[in-house]
Amino acid sequence: MTLNIGVIGTGAIGQDHIRRLTQTLRGSRVVAVTDINLEQAAKVVAEQRLTAELYPDGHALIASSQVQAVVVTSWGPSHEEYVLAAIAAGKPVFCEKPLAVSAQGCQRIVEAEMAHGRRLVQVGFMRPYDAGYRQLKAILDSHRIGTPLMVHAAHRNPTVAANYTTAMAITDTLIHEINVLAWLLDDQYVSAQVVFPRRTSQAREPLRDPQIVLLETAKGVRIDVEVFVNCRYGYDIQCEVVGEEGIARLPEPSAVQLRSEARRSTEILMDWKDRFIAAYDVELQAFVDDLATGALSGPSAWDGYLAAVTADACVQAQQQAAVIPISLPERPSFYAPIQASKKNIYTKND
Ligand code: NAP
Repeated sequence: MTLNIGVIGTGAIGQDHIRRLTQTLRGSRVVAVTDINLEQAAKVVAEQRLTAELYPDGHALIASSQVQAVVVTSWGPSHEEYVLAAIAAGKPVFCEKPLAVSAQGCQRIVEAEMAHGRRLVQVGFMRPYDAGYRQLKAILDSHRIGTPLMVHAAHRNPTVAANYTTAMAITDTLIHEINVLAWLLDDQYVSAQVVFPRRTSQAREPLRDPQIVLLETAKGVRIDVEVFVNCRYGYDIQCEVVGEEGIARLPEPSAVQLRSEARRSTEILMDWKDRFIAAYDVELQAFVDDLATGALSGPSAWDGYLAAVTADACVQAQQQAAVIPISLPERPSFYAPIQASKKNIYTKND
């Protein structure tokens, strides 16, 4: 069976997902496309030689009988209305992060999905699909380094757009660590603090860069994440888990080791798209495959909600220079504990 997908938003990640759905993945085709800028959507249809129909807006696309599932890649503030409309139409929806721009918005989606009675929403958190993070999780789950005590992580970008703000270091950047570290440790956050070291002269005013985010989990693990978005030298994701009996590090992306001109060197990636290109393929393939077998198993609306609550606390911590407690409600049984499912590609340790 081929799944007919409609894509809302044909910007950077929208074009990338359309390309992978049509050229790389199996079991789906893009039959409908829209964007607030219809000329842009038409250009993408032409450039990618799609046979997809153009729709005047996201709501018309969701309502179309041609569309069986929806991919939302428009800008963040529009996600909630499209996800709610897809749920109301009973259609599965893959929504890029953020699920909604507020925790209340995520909660509205959770409530609508639970009222519908079946999971329809997958959030575009791709890190748990990255081979390196999965190897790291397999080591943690095998207890080879004993109980995790601390995590040292870094999220570094060479540079960011002129409109990037101090809060976006949390909502756009750290949000991936918030999701993946909770998954990795099978834990949740109980407090957040943000510390600002000396400001880099490379950052545009008034951006505070770098930042160190300190998170504490319910099991007592202490996490520090350096977010440094003007580091210049590359796109660099680091994660080291310190356990009672050893240390496990996220593997570096594979790269040729070069010996030349009296130097041993390996290249560092500059673009986030290259770093997680395979993970994006696996997460979207999982969405398509899960729908073929009947049940979504990837990052859920609940995971989107937990990330939003945690991100809110981190932004508050930035503004108040204080340790902000995080109180997360218990996971409803509707969003069964993620380890429960044997077939779950999101949690499978391979
Ligand atoms: P982008 O290049 O700005 O693309 C967004 C597109 O959506 C633009 O073409 C925009 O049109 C359009 N749009 C805006 N409002 C819309 C609406 N109400 N209905 C339909 N289309 C609308 O941004 P992007 O980098 O692709 O990011 C899109 C989303 O994906 C963001 O939420 C971002 O956080 C997320 N993202 C996730 C990852 C990840 O690693 N998982 C990576 C990149 C992006 P205009 O330009 O005319 O406004």
